[in-house]
Amino acid sequence: MLIEHYALDIFTPPCEPGAERFSAIARLTVDISEALPYLNATLRGAVYRPDAGALTWKKGGRSITFRAYEIAAANLEDRTEATKIIDGLVDLVNRTWERRDEITPDHTVRRRPDPMTVYNLLPKTNCRVCGQPTCFTFALKLLAGQAKLKQCPPLSEPGSEKRREQLETLLPDGIKR
Ligand code: SF4
Repeated sequence: MLIEHYALDIFTPPCEPGAERFSAIARLTVDISEALPYLNATLRGAVYRPDAGALTWKKGGRSITFRAYEIAAANLEDRTEATKIIDGLVDLVNRTWERRDEITPDHTVRRRPDPMTVYNLLPKTNCRVCGQPTCFTFALKLLAGQAKLKQCPPLSEPGSEKRREQLETLLPDGIKR
């Protein structure tokens, strides 16, 4: 097992005292850098930055970061959820590491598309059908993993096929549909 022990810190971000959402960091006693390319190969939508020694991933609206000696998660509901999510992430790293002989490590550096690129592919009518006040806000929500393309019905209308296809190519798998 790669990670056998860790210390867990759960806190509200210092810039948001009293915030209702929590962040958590598992401080590790082992270096998991070598596991990052294997996680990059298996986690859809992960963004690997070897120069920063980090792999980031969005899941269920939560921002997750794996670094050499820590695993961090943000946008957590409470302490119970924070503990459960971090335990699950530690287990994910351990299971991926144990299966490394079956996985081709992926050293590809992927970057998340910038909001303006996504916005320029949206209908730009600010019709609000998606529940957001503007198409730009929807672009930000898409990139944060808090919205999905299907929430913009105008993108499914005739004539929007090409833009939708480009968005599907650009966005991580988990938020395409
Ligand atoms: S539904 Fe689509 S077109 Fe309408 S505001 Fe949302 S993103 Fe823009």
